[in-house]
Amino acid sequence: MSEPFEHKTVDLKNLNPQDLRQFLSGIGKEKFRTTQILRWIYTRGVEDFNEMTDLAKSFREELFTRATISSFVPEAEEVSTDGTRKFLFRLSDGNSVETVLIPMDGDRNTLCISTQVGCAMQCSFCFTGTFGLQRNLETAEIVNQVCAVRKKYPVNNIVLMGMGEPLHNLENVIKALEILYAEAGFAYGTRKVTLSTSGLVPEMLELGRRIKVNLAVSLNATTDAVRDELMPVNRRYPLSQLMEACRRYPLAPHQRITFEYILIQGVNDSLEDAKRLVKLLHGIKAKVNLIPFNEHSGSDFKTPNEESIRAFQVYLLDRQIVAVRRAGKGQDISAACGQLKGKLENKL
Ligand code: SAH
Ligand code: SF4
Repeated sequence: MSEPFEHKTVDLKNLNPQDLRQFLSGIGKEKFRTTQILRWIYTRGVEDFNEMTDLAKSFREELFTRATISSFVPEAEEVSTDGTRKFLFRLSDGNSVETVLIPMDGDRNTLCISTQVGCAMQCSFCFTGTFGLQRNLETAEIVNQVCAVRKKYPVNNIVLMGMGEPLHNLENVIKALEILYAEAGFAYGTRKVTLSTSGLVPEMLELGRRIKVNLAVSLNATTDAVRDELMPVNRRYPLSQLMEACRRYPLAPHQRITFEYILIQGVNDSLEDAKRLVKLLHGIKAKVNLIPFNEHSGSDFKTPNEESIRAFQVYLLDRQIVAVRRAGKGQDISAACGQLKGKLENKL
């Protein structure tokens, strides 16, 4: 007896190009169909198989029975006085994630996407971290943040710096990158995408072996004692191991690793810290993003005063270290670094 519902449907946005090709060949389709379908889904933003007019009707019907194409519609969109936009997306299980669009020059934008609901790493300065990990995002849920925002705004660069530790969700993140890079899809260059990690050393090395992506490392301290306190991951992978992994991370010519350094008053903002930072970065192609701590209700830490931020930056610049100050964009809508929380806040 035939079982009409025996097939589980697959969300095509969970498949990287290689998986999609395998799926299609499993139902007897040719290789070039992969390109066709990637083009429909990503380049043209189609979510209904009926609109895929260059596929035969029988093929479309087969896709209907075996596959779906998920999509996100923002449940909320807030815009900051500085032009930063924050989107809230509801997930099918009721959880939610936030995605932030940051304007650059002209009408170019960087999109900051999330990779997990919450985060397990428990960094003491981070609002997202205070709620613990709810779950990993599926590949489709990572990609759909980009799809949804691109429907309304240009997205030129992508940073995996929203909620979550991307390397804690390595498989889904790599698949999502492969989809973002797909020639027939969004075709992002590997230099347009940056992944930020708190420093999961084995996964950093694995990432480097498996895929090309710009790496950002949340450093935030120059001694193990301070980093242990700020970022518990440091107790597993102390600074010496972290910096060694950075040295081994494969870089293209002229490419650098970004080190994010949150400046917290009286904790890591002294000139002694700046001096140690210069030492730590010795021999690494690095640039430093200085991020004055964004104050929030989950932490007693304070932002340093203007003079000490400036002095810290100048110390690095004087020693030929590229040190950029990152403005806390979108603070008025809690869209700045470490302020994302999605629906988690309702649990307070
Ligand atoms: N989990 C990854 C990526 C997301 S966190 C990581 O930690 O790298 C993104 C960035 O926000 C990190 O560099 C983190 O150090 C920074 N951040 C977290 N809380 C912050 C805060 N309160 N003020 C400023 N930056 C913060
Ligand atoms: Fe997680 Fe990054 Fe926040 Fe640390 S800084 S708790 S790793 S999101």
